[in-house]
Amino acid sequence: MKIFHKITEIKDFVISSKDKKLSVGFVPTMGALHQGHIELIKQSVKENDITICSIFVNPIQFNNTEDLEKYPRTLDADLKMLESANCSAVFNPSVEEMYPNEETTIYELGGLDLPMEGKFRPGHFNGVAVVVKRLFDIVTPHNAYFGEKDFQQLAIIQYLVKSLNIPIEIIPCSIVREVDGLAMSSRNMRLTENERKIAPFIYQALQFAKENYKNFSAKELKEWIENQFSKQNEFKLEYVEIVDSSSLKNVLNWEDSKHVNICLAAFLGKVRLIDNIKIF
Ligand code: AMP
Repeated sequence: MKIFHKITEIKDFVISSKDKKLSVGFVPTMGALHQGHIELIKQSVKENDITICSIFVNPIQFNNTEDLEKYPRTLDADLKMLESANCSAVFNPSVEEMYPNEETTIYELGGLDLPMEGKFRPGHFNGVAVVVKRLFDIVTPHNAYFGEKDFQQLAIIQYLVKSLNIPIEIIPCSIVREVDGLAMSSRNMRLTENERKIAPFIYQALQFAKENYKNFSAKELKEWIENQFSKQNEFKLEYVEIVDSSSLKNVLNWEDSKHVNICLAAFLGKVRLIDNIKIF
């Protein structure tokens, strides 16, 4: 597995791979890798001749300094996991390499950036769009793999690629969960032992909602979830929204949408967790 820190090096590697007619799969990450990331890598390895993973903690997508400072960094372990998963190359640039100048680009994201995460993390999705566009320009993959764990992010990347006519196929990948249902996340390692024990409550609530949605209106179901969280002292629910899977607009009647997801964010102690479930 090759490791590159400089844009020119990874670009040369991609050019020489494409000269050999090899297809390129790409998995952008912020490191602190877990099985969720590795499933993306595995899918890319299966579907492409070479797979490139980027590891870059993107400062401009953090709206909270403590979250950025405390973001786990486990490069040595990450590289071992990627090597075992048959990743071909890793791109691990410095902040200066990615942002030599102050970043001022603003992307139009079709309003998909406004609800949910967008409301609570202003500027987050523009930061995501800037880094993903820049990484796409550098890596120029044929296929790029994104997890449904970050449901709103995936919708925004799909919008960006379409609106800018970027010739890259975006491949959505299912959420990978721990055995007890907790969605895998790099932030899970910041949970205390007790918080980790109660964290699966999030998925239990989502699953109940999925199984029983027909007995509720969308408004009642949202209130039911909010009510469940309000009974849990350790959790602070930031939002729960029942949305159309494409427009991310709130669903009022089940008949109005073909595909519906429930998305939520909650603090468990100091750690902010997000999760979502497709209800149909
Ligand atoms: P991150 O390192 O958190 O920026 O995530 C990098 C990619 O891995 C994103 O496309 C995420 O959606 C995806 N990802 C993170 N956690 C999971 C998970 N539990 N299941 C599936 N994909 C995930």
